[in-house]
Amino acid sequence: MNKEWSLEELYKGYEDSAFQEDIKKLEQAVATFNRLAGNLDAAQPAKSIREMLLASEELTALAERLFVFCSLKQSVNTSDNDAVAYMGKMEDMLSNTAKADTVLEQFVAAQENLEELIASDDILKEYEYKLKRIKREACYLLSEEVEEAVSKLNASSGTAWSDMHSYLTSTVKVDYEGKEMTLPAIRNLAYSKDAAVRKAAYEAELASYEKIKDAITFSLNSIKKQVLTMVELRGYESPLDMTLQQSGMQKETLDAMFTAMKEYFPKFHQYLKRKGELLGHKNGLPWYELFAPMGSVSRTFTTEEAKDYLVNLLRGFAPDLAEMVERAFDEAWIDFYPHEGKVGGAFCCNVQGLKQSRILTNFDGSLSDVVTLAHELGHAYHNVQIHNHRPGNTDYSMPVAETASTFNETVVMDAAIAAADKEERIALIESQLQDITQIMCDIYSRYLFESAVFDNRNEGFMFADQLKEMMLSAQKEAYGDGLDAECLHPYMWVCK
Ligand SMILES: [Zn+2]
Repeated sequence: MNKEWSLEELYKGYEDSAFQEDIKKLEQAVATFNRLAGNLDAAQPAKSIREMLLASEELTALAERLFVFCSLKQSVNTSDNDAVAYMGKMEDMLSNTAKADTVLEQFVAAQENLEELIASDDILKEYEYKLKRIKREACYLLSEEVEEAVSKLNASSGTAWSDMHSYLTSTVKVDYEGKEMTLPAIRNLAYSKDAAVRKAAYEAELASYEKIKDAITFSLNSIKKQVLTMVELRGYESPLDMTLQQSGMQKETLDAMFTAMKEYFPKFHQYLKRKGELLGHKNGLPWYELFAPMGSVSRTFTTEEAKDYLVNLLRGFAPDLAEMVERAFDEAWIDFYPHEGKVGGAFCCNVQGLKQSRILTNFDGSLSDVVTLAHELGHAYHNVQIHNHRPGNTDYSMPVAETASTFNETVVMDAAIAAADKEERIALIESQLQDITQIMCDIYSRYLFESAVFDNRNEGFMFADQLKEMMLSAQKEAYGDGLDAECLHPYMWVCK
């Protein structure tokens, strides 16, 4: 079994003539798309829309293949400067389509008999959802010149502030016991078995934010101001209204989720308090103990064992899912092991052109790494479901995106808990509670913080001290008496 993924099916390298030709083709595809936008024929609307949709498909397919190749190369070699250069070049090329995109959207929105047009053309029929959505949301569009300017200016405003945030948080030096560490490395110590290490790492982490808090304060204020400006220009009710519409989600759905969460918060607070007691804390769990491991899991896996384990478990649910998991292991879709210059964490990337996925993990053989594999393979299974869709119909929103992955994770966790001895069972159930507490309490605290930031931003700039206070009050509300109110994380807005 390969331990690294194979990207050869895409290109042999940057020098590969196929890669160089596709870059040229992408430039031509952008030109074709822009030319078609300039020649839309009001007398033949179905033909005009179809031509632009097909041109957009070609452009999307090319851009995806090239971007996927560069970004996957870069994720296993973060100092791959060629990847950065090619991606920058392609982003510039693609920013030149913003005006044509708007022209097409305005043209679609102006069709009074859109339903009839869709019914008259096979390609338009396949894009029915997209076209109707364009028409519905056209009221939020700005003029083509303004859309073009907004798109171009974003590179030096919102995107630039966000790049600065990523740069500062990935390069800030954390002083820990006479050594310098990175933020991800110090935050990882929250999982240490040693209570003293967890506490010292938390203190070092908080101290390191002092070095970058002012720069991040300007970044946060500017990004939020930009969102508010766009909300106002486009005519949305609020940033939340815009996010919901863009995610295809109704306010009622979000409210129903919040109602269910609030109903169950006391259970989570009870869990946190109990964990605090077991670790010797009287006033709730201190922040630095959130990820303290309880119980112990000794079982380890090789990649072959992980494959057999997952294939057997998932076959019981769906044979085609099990088959795909086998292919993922056998056909080098997965890059398993950590090494210098490889990014941390795990992700799954759809490679629509190959009707495959690529998965990156930092596998060290623990059960939780097998659960991570199951999660990412769930994303890959979702990707299989969209491989026969047209290139312009493959987007999906965040709530849908995590469905198959969470399902897979649950199948594996349930099986592992059922087969575990007592110590292991405690460890597994507790680790599951840790994860769910993050989704319930932590995400909710961030929602509260973000809402407060938007509410306050129109009145003026918020300095770091004010942002810290807002974060603390959001955490107190979300975590209730489960956490020690004297030991929270006032800088969560710097780190996430
Ligand atoms: Zn996921």
